[in-house]
Amino acid sequence: MSDYKINTKCVQGGYTPGNGEPRQIPIIQSTTFKYATSEDMGKLFDLEASGYFYTRLQNPTNDMVAAKICDMEGGAAAMLTSSGQAANFYAVFNIANCGDHVVASSTIYGGTYNLFHVTMRKMGIDFTFVSPDCTEEELNAAFKPNTKAVFGETIANPALTVLDIEKFAKAAHAHGVPLIVDNTFATPVNCRPIEWGCDIVTHSTTKYMDGHGAGVGGCIVDSGKFDWLAHADKFPGLTTPDDSYHGITYAEKFGLAGAFITKCTAQLMRDFGSIQSPQNAFLLNLGLESLHVRMPRHCENGLAVAKYLKSHPKISFVTYPGLEGDRYYDLAQKYMPNGTCGVVSFGFKGGRSAAETFMKHLKLAAIETHVADARTCTLHPASATHRQMNDEELAAAGITPDLVRFSCGIEDVADLIADLEQALAQV
Ligand SMILES: *Cc1c(COP(=O)(O)O)cnc(C)c1O
Repeated sequence: MSDYKINTKCVQGGYTPGNGEPRQIPIIQSTTFKYATSEDMGKLFDLEASGYFYTRLQNPTNDMVAAKICDMEGGAAAMLTSSGQAANFYAVFNIANCGDHVVASSTIYGGTYNLFHVTMRKMGIDFTFVSPDCTEEELNAAFKPNTKAVFGETIANPALTVLDIEKFAKAAHAHGVPLIVDNTFATPVNCRPIEWGCDIVTHSTTKYMDGHGAGVGGCIVDSGKFDWLAHADKFPGLTTPDDSYHGITYAEKFGLAGAFITKCTAQLMRDFGSIQSPQNAFLLNLGLESLHVRMPRHCENGLAVAKYLKSHPKISFVTYPGLEGDRYYDLAQKYMPNGTCGVVSFGFKGGRSAAETFMKHLKLAAIETHVADARTCTLHPASATHRQMNDEELAAAGITPDLVRFSCGIEDVADLIADLEQALAQV
């Protein structure tokens, strides 16, 4: 599929049925797979032959969907995970261990920030958070001799900052480590980070990729471009024998294209087991089949809502990287010329209470912790996800008490604006 355009890959990538085979990807709802001899199965355990033996490690349905996302991102290998959280944990933990260090953008998703700042620190991995707007000098100064990766989000959730992927890739490569980019909000329809020098892409497929609020899931795509052996001393997990696999050295046996994902499957999925269910992978694939049709509508609605709010007398600010005049407009034009995403955030001249009144009167937009869904959903973080924080703590998290996150779905934009208008009239 790799010569086809992204729209075609969304529809047909990952699975090409043979004569008389099912047109839609089969759901292989089986925990296990049968073999004629113990020797046949032994070869799989030794990674001497490829094949399925237990769904905790790999499942054919999952692999077809991972192959589609891999193709869409222009990667070399990919795997599905049970959630976006699992994808980001695996992507980092596959190369950073106790005693190592990672440089990450400070505006990343709150769940990822907690994972890094609290949970992975308990595992002995240290993180330095840098502003996505930092200068090259500031970025370079964040590296340490034990730094193993750089991490950022194409469009950050919910800060809506845009990552200068080339700047971050250049610094990562100058220090001999890969750049990992969470591409959840842009999706490969709007941005393919690998084309800009990123080495590993992650996704919460729960968002636009699934698109229908049906299944939580994640994905990791490896570009196959990072040369682990050229920096062998930094990545012993990939460049020295794995005792739990009879002394296999992943980078030698599977090459640049296979090493990262094979290790991630053979070690991390084996030991942590955050596999996506084949049923959910099937639903994810249904979402992917229309992703390229939905994304332009999300962006069109997002831009129209941002423009409407920008000119409204009761609104104090609007953040939307696709809106001319936004701080990230130029970077968005460079990396996402066809559109960014459907999420807009804004604040009220009347402060927190105006935001609360507004939320109470919305009719079509639903109050949810979810984003990036076909149905418009919205959240007032200060009274929901961040309600335990006082105003100072909110400010430190980059959230004002009046901020509302509004995730435009694919409904008729006239109805969305009418809903905003009637709710704003009550403020
Ligand atoms: C939602 C989200 C995640 C976490 O994904 P889950 O599927 O909810 O585990 C990670 N990164 C970004 C950018 C997200 O929006």
